[in-house]
Amino acid sequence: MSIFWSPVVHALSPYTPGEQPKLDGLIKLNTNENPYPPSPHAVAAIQAELGEDGDRLKLYPEPTGLMLREALADHFGIDSTNVFVGNSSDEVLAHTFIGLLKHDRPLLFPDITYSFYPVYCGLYGIDYRQIALDERFAIRVDDYIEARPGAVIFPNPNAPTGRLLPLTDISRLASALPDSPVVIDEAYIDFGGESAVALIAEHANLLVTQTLSKSRSLAGLRVGFAIGQPHLIDALTRVKDSFNSYPLDRLALVGATAAVRDREWFDQTRRRVAASRDRLSEELESLGFEVLPSAANFLFVRHPQHDAAQLAAALREQRILVRHFKAARIDQFLRITVGTTAQCNALVDALQSLV
Ligand SMILES: *Cc1c(COP(=O)(O)O)cnc(C)c1O
Repeated sequence: MSIFWSPVVHALSPYTPGEQPKLDGLIKLNTNENPYPPSPHAVAAIQAELGEDGDRLKLYPEPTGLMLREALADHFGIDSTNVFVGNSSDEVLAHTFIGLLKHDRPLLFPDITYSFYPVYCGLYGIDYRQIALDERFAIRVDDYIEARPGAVIFPNPNAPTGRLLPLTDISRLASALPDSPVVIDEAYIDFGGESAVALIAEHANLLVTQTLSKSRSLAGLRVGFAIGQPHLIDALTRVKDSFNSYPLDRLALVGATAAVRDREWFDQTRRRVAASRDRLSEELESLGFEVLPSAANFLFVRHPQHDAAQLAAALREQRILVRHFKAARIDQFLRITVGTTAQCNALVDALQSLV
């Protein structure tokens, strides 16, 4: 606290990111990073942009991220006017909260979801209500429709549960609330779901956000994007140009563009992660864990006889990091990122000795 803080800063309750320890040799299964490296084409493109002497860094990047928007438009079979790009999907989401989700009636999102959402609401003074997931931790679309909200946002698959909502439910929700923006945060969709990007032509109120941090192994490059009809994209562009005209630097632009164009690498790594997830899920079940069905690159699990916080602490002593949330309804769960085969095996070995 300081007398120099503005009243806005006094009132903030910031997001707490998962630990990024400096220790080497840790098995890091706590922040849903991809265990495989990014596309070699992305790395080569960044090196080429840097050149011998970095001379190009003298110049500002192209402000609208057009080369990346065109690569994403090709990838999804849409137009570049349907695409907004930003410095991480967290930033794209922040612009979305102020640009599309602040209305007279409250914004709705699940009681168990990405914990950044209430933080943006605090920052931007957005009235919100949390809707309880059902007892199996699934989203019930009818609860949102009946509440007549100002807007709706949730991840699909949801985080930290990993549960996937079928596209038919998203379509039904968007149709039932034609005057309310509906935002689907698809940070994990590439690991096992169908993207709602397929629905944007039919729904003027539907915006889909994605990130290159998880399925394209580029969490360190900070690139995210949103897809929707041009009037929604325009709202985000207006916010961006009132905040930072050049959110993507030259290295991020060329690296992200090459990663999006390398479909083969993308398909290969996401399939490997999904296969490891399904194997890990079976192994944890055989150790007595309850494992929620996951379409993401993480599992949300609890053990009927072992306290989750104690398990997380015991794993940490064996240099394995997983994420535990001290929150109502989920404080007996662990969120475990799917690692390489070797990392998953090390986790299962450690848990075998603990449970
Ligand atoms: C990881 C994550 C993000 C943020 O991704 P970045 O692009 O790395 O900021 C957004 N939403 C959800 C649900 C996530 O899990």
